[in-house]
Amino acid sequence: MGKYFGTSGIREIVNERLTPDLALKVGKTLGTYLGEGKVVVGRDTRTSGEMLKNALISGLLSTGIDVIDIDLSPTPLTGFAIKLYEADAGVTITASHNPPEYNGIKVWQPNGMAYTSGMENELERILEEGKFQQASWDNIGELTRADPKKEYIKKALEMIELSKGYKVVVDCGNGAGSILSPYLQRELGNKVISLNSHPSGFFVRELEPNAKSLETLAKAVKSLEADVGIAHDGDADRIGVVDNQGNFVEYEVMLSLISGYMLRKFGKGKIITTVDAGFALDNYVKPLGGEVVRVKVGDVAVAEGIIRENAVFGGEPSGTWIIPQWNLTPDGIFAGALVLEMIDKLGPLSELAKEVPRYVTLRAKIPCPNEKKVKAMEFIKREVLESFEYKRIIDIDGIRIENDEWWILFRPSGTEPIMRITLEAHTKEKAEGLMKKAEKLVKNAIKSV
Ligand code: MG
Repeated sequence: MGKYFGTSGIREIVNERLTPDLALKVGKTLGTYLGEGKVVVGRDTRTSGEMLKNALISGLLSTGIDVIDIDLSPTPLTGFAIKLYEADAGVTITASHNPPEYNGIKVWQPNGMAYTSGMENELERILEEGKFQQASWDNIGELTRADPKKEYIKKALEMIELSKGYKVVVDCGNGAGSILSPYLQRELGNKVISLNSHPSGFFVRELEPNAKSLETLAKAVKSLEADVGIAHDGDADRIGVVDNQGNFVEYEVMLSLISGYMLRKFGKGKIITTVDAGFALDNYVKPLGGEVVRVKVGDVAVAEGIIRENAVFGGEPSGTWIIPQWNLTPDGIFAGALVLEMIDKLGPLSELAKEVPRYVTLRAKIPCPNEKKVKAMEFIKREVLESFEYKRIIDIDGIRIENDEWWILFRPSGTEPIMRITLEAHTKEKAEGLMKKAEKLVKNAIKSV
């Protein structure tokens, strides 16, 4: 992680660290990095979006790069547009689920996946150095405006088919999904009720879809006797789902169900998930011919895993799903269509959710100064065998130790001065016992480094 680019591109408070000046420089930086070609630029609904977008576009044009401005656009639509217009990169101006005073800049590759940290490091270097490519007056980039929504819906309808229409409540949290998700659901033949779909930049619920932030959606689904509720974060790369009885379907359950459905739809194969995902997925997909491969946390690692393993599907237990037959950009909107197709083929969501085995998951955060994180993790890796009898260890992102009945993940936060412990076990007693030992180990590690 560099000075500007964090775990998900640049994400800062607007007009403090993320100013139009910085957006202009990022535009020049990306133009210098690419040298030539064209870039798709989209933004979410935040009040600062237009300001930052125009600055970024100016920077790109000054280096001679052509720009296709698709303006207000959920991240997955920008990802789609990159491929549709055969662009050399894409940029989303978004802070995803952060509060409204934030915004961010995330860069995407021609194949729809986000820039890797290696590519971001190179951008960081160019940005720091400040030697930007400059086009002469007759070589300045050309700006065009485009709206890829119709093509997106047309292409999605070629892949998703329902035997009848359903009643669907869509909650976009006033984010960028508002301009696409309800329309795609309607074009699928559903009766759609839209909640919080005013792309104003003022948010009425927490943008992260979870049981608490989706209480209104859950009530609406129940009182309207709808078949399903679909919700998104601010840029709609994620999906949260409420079942036909008005219950928020836990992320791990939804991840298992959709992975199973993908195996049924596209055939046996590998499923990519991240080191913080539980055993439910492994157990659920095994009888369907699925094999789970775990990668680092983050959509880039999932997309890379999909390519490397030629996987059928990849998803994180945060509602971030990548459907490679569609695109390598995480897409909560296409995911919504896929959920409807699953319900159409397999039955009501409340019934399907019962098929997924549930275990006990516990999470803890322990304060840890950023400068101690690396040493503390080394300590944990050295000492972990003293405390636990595990069978397997995965150390690609934090340290995950596994037995057949439990697993524990020790992972430093990328953004906050804390260590996270996530664990899962078959019983509450076992989980609590493991947590006690895990907390002790982490505290010892922080104290002794
Ligand atoms: Mg997001």
